[in-house]
Amino acid sequence: MPYSVSPIGFVRSCFKEKFAIPRQPQLAPAARGVLELVAPFDTGEAVQGLEQVSHVWLLFLFHQALEDRPRLKVRPPRLGGNKSVGVFASRATHRPNGIGQSVVKLDAVEPGRLWLSGIDLLDGTPVLDIKPYVPYADSVASAYNRIADAAPRLIEVHWLDGALGQARSHGLRLDQPLIELIEQCLAQDPRPAYQVPAPERRYGARFWDVDVRWHYPEPGKICVLDVVAA
Ligand code: SAM
Repeated sequence: MPYSVSPIGFVRSCFKEKFAIPRQPQLAPAARGVLELVAPFDTGEAVQGLEQVSHVWLLFLFHQALEDRPRLKVRPPRLGGNKSVGVFASRATHRPNGIGQSVVKLDAVEPGRLWLSGIDLLDGTPVLDIKPYVPYADSVASAYNRIADAAPRLIEVHWLDGALGQARSHGLRLDQPLIELIEQCLAQDPRPAYQVPAPERRYGARFWDVDVRWHYPEPGKICVLDVVAA
């Protein structure tokens, strides 16, 4: 029996495309966004008391990964894209009902608007529900996950002088920690694990309204080439 749900709001995010978004929240603290609530949740009543909470769970729709046919197995990028596990053993975006969940930092609360950081959400993501993070219940000291036991290993991020200057001035214009955002996201190495990066191959992603281009001058090292208005 199908049920229907409707978004309580939409995220305005620093991430304008899926590529280079961290694989989980909290990995890029400089990743910011605003959750704009829609009526009837936009008057302030629905968020009353939320200013006493540091983090919230967001339940959302992977609106750019919805599929008609459910998958039983997925190939998580984390496992190199060549090993499959059951869909319920993974946090991959391809899911039966397209539902994602992230714990994000709540920086400020306004009527109809939540200011967030540490997000892993694409711009325009429809949010289905918000729940306060409850430390005593949501943090399990004895928990383990042998598929994803630790945060991804970070790689070095270097800058061409010109690119660093460009990022600094766009960051000032946007009033956002753009250098930190780029470094934190690229350090996760967004490239699919199975792809061997040739030094001449260029990669790119859009953060806020700027396009960032980089390459891998040698394995395990990224160099940012330019940061230009999109
Ligand atoms: N923390 C969530 C979870 O566990 O359900 C998301 C994990 S999922 C592996 C994270 C990836 O989802 C990001 O790297 C990004 O590429 C993708 N993503 C984020 N928002 C999306 C959206 N609205 N539609 C499709 N893909 C999205």
